[in-house]
Amino acid sequence: MRFDIITIFPDFFTSIFSHGVLKRARVGRLLQIEIHDLRTFTHDRHRTVDDRPFGGGEGMVLKPEPLVEAVESLEVTPKPERDPKKESVILLSAQGARLTQATARELAELERVVLLCGRYEGVDERVNELVCDRELSIGDYVLSGGELGAAVIVDATMRLLPGVLGNEDSSAFESFGRRDDYSADAEGPPRSTHGSGGILDYPHYTRPAEYRGLGVPEVLAGGDHAAIRKWRRQCALEKTLRNRPDLLDHADLTQNDRAFLAELARIKP
Ligand code: SAM
Repeated sequence: MRFDIITIFPDFFTSIFSHGVLKRARVGRLLQIEIHDLRTFTHDRHRTVDDRPFGGGEGMVLKPEPLVEAVESLEVTPKPERDPKKESVILLSAQGARLTQATARELAELERVVLLCGRYEGVDERVNELVCDRELSIGDYVLSGGELGAAVIVDATMRLLPGVLGNEDSSAFESFGRRDDYSADAEGPPRSTHGSGGILDYPHYTRPAEYRGLGVPEVLAGGDHAAIRKWRRQCALEKTLRNRPDLLDHADLTQNDRAFLAELARIKP
């Protein structure tokens, strides 16, 4: 899979893609990331990328010409003929649809993704109309630029590519996992993380067995797979109810899950 990132701060990415899984994916040629300096696509002596907003108001706006020319230089298919199953040009924007694990799964199916990083007050809207397929936001807050968002999208997406994680199941069996991922872990020894069905992951423990007076839940050392699975599921449900109750509306819940949640609501209304 190939990502192209268009930015006025290319150096921002020097270190961010050079560690851990991301680095291994690049070295192993599972992932290609190309960074493009927006100023290369200007035509004036000052390499101007921004200008004042029409209609007045504070700040500056990224001009359309350099961004459109930068996208065109990448030889992605022009917007009207673009195959949404192969390529996507994405504008990072606080006004975009919120990035979720489901979005990352969609992107991981593509061959090519181009990410446009805004700055200042944002990007001339015609860029969006002319070359972008979608606007994505990484959360309900305003950042000073799209670079962090671009890095988040690359990271969340690339770990879902086949072969990127050492253990093929690692990405399937964690927070926000899909329904089929969850049911795949119905039998046998519990996996290191077992599927969530759209809820949060459960708490993890490793050695030492006692740390600063805190032990590890006894069930995890008992070797009873069914009991471990049940404990993990209940912890995940409890944590989701506490931290992200909104996820429960769309989660894949069994009758036992629902009964457990009802019981929790009774104990801690
Ligand atoms: N005026 C814009 C607004 O209120 O929506 C904010 C512009 S922001 C200061 C500059 C750039 O940062 C945006 O063009 C976008 O590329 C990026 N950005 C800001 N917040 C973001 C978010 N939550 N997700 C993704 N990108 C974001």
